[in-house]
Amino acid sequence: MTRSLELDKKLNVVDCHCDTILEVARGKSGLCRPSLTGHVDIFRLREGGVGVQFFAAFIEPVYKPFGSLQRALQLIDTFYTETESSHGIIVPGFTFKQIRNKLREDKIVAVLGIEGGEALNGDVSVLRMLYRLGVRFLGLTWNQRNQIADGVGERITGGGLTNFGREVIREMNQLGMIIDLAHISEAGFWDALQLSQAPVMVSHTNCYALCEHPRNLTDDQIKALAAMRGIMGLSFVPDFLGSKRNSIDGFLDHVDYVAGLVGTSVIAIGSDFDGIEKTPEGLEDCRCYPMIARGLLDRGYTQQEVGDIMGGNVLRFMEQVFID
Ligand SMILES: [Zn+2]
Repeated sequence: MTRSLELDKKLNVVDCHCDTILEVARGKSGLCRPSLTGHVDIFRLREGGVGVQFFAAFIEPVYKPFGSLQRALQLIDTFYTETESSHGIIVPGFTFKQIRNKLREDKIVAVLGIEGGEALNGDVSVLRMLYRLGVRFLGLTWNQRNQIADGVGERITGGGLTNFGREVIREMNQLGMIIDLAHISEAGFWDALQLSQAPVMVSHTNCYALCEHPRNLTDDQIKALAAMRGIMGLSFVPDFLGSKRNSIDGFLDHVDYVAGLVGTSVIAIGSDFDGIEKTPEGLEDCRCYPMIARGLLDRGYTQQEVGDIMGGNVLRFMEQVFID
């Protein structure tokens, strides 16, 4: 028990994906008040030992394509309104140095992103403006086709990145923005890996070898991601977990699988909290992370490896991708 208590204090978890902003914008949840239905709020983030939480502004299909940018702006407004009302408990993070300093000050850092490249309206100047508004990661697609690429829902066409998609990758590299390839078609994944000068992230996904779901990564994809020093956020989505879909054990099996295939340096957490209806037992909300850390220690991972998986790997990744 002593070792886990000691671990809890230093966890500084980084979670690469949640959809909490949307739940807040819809009035179903609140980041700064204890929420009865949601998975994430500042009180439970603290309890769970979370240091950095990625917040994806998920553009709902009903807004696509023409209302996407306005919806993104509404969700960005929600992000700032919420973080500002936390009295400094959670603060937006824009650069690696700032994020590191805020963690030292014991703040929770919120990293803002968009899930769905429709928000760019086919225009890289919009991307640059979104960067100026604090957006630091972009999920190029959701499941559908958009101006950038095909999503996994369109994989039958074999479509990858469009010309505009290529322009977006180059611009994101220039800006030092994180390219998120969760939801993209397999052809799009390979195009992006070939083109990007910086490592990329797949923020919420799992292993195809353990669960044949189109959102999961094949062994070849995991190997390529690891080789480029990218990040694979393992999700809690029951549909992606396979036979042990309802247990923390099912999640830990995916960690074991990736670790066995390529080692631990690619592995991160990508909960998908507030984007999933049901959660596996033991992973009910953002207080679950000490349980995961304990589970990893019990499976024989070292303290260092557990720290890397829970957050250290993503911090190093951000240091490399962000410009300053
Ligand atoms: Zn998603």
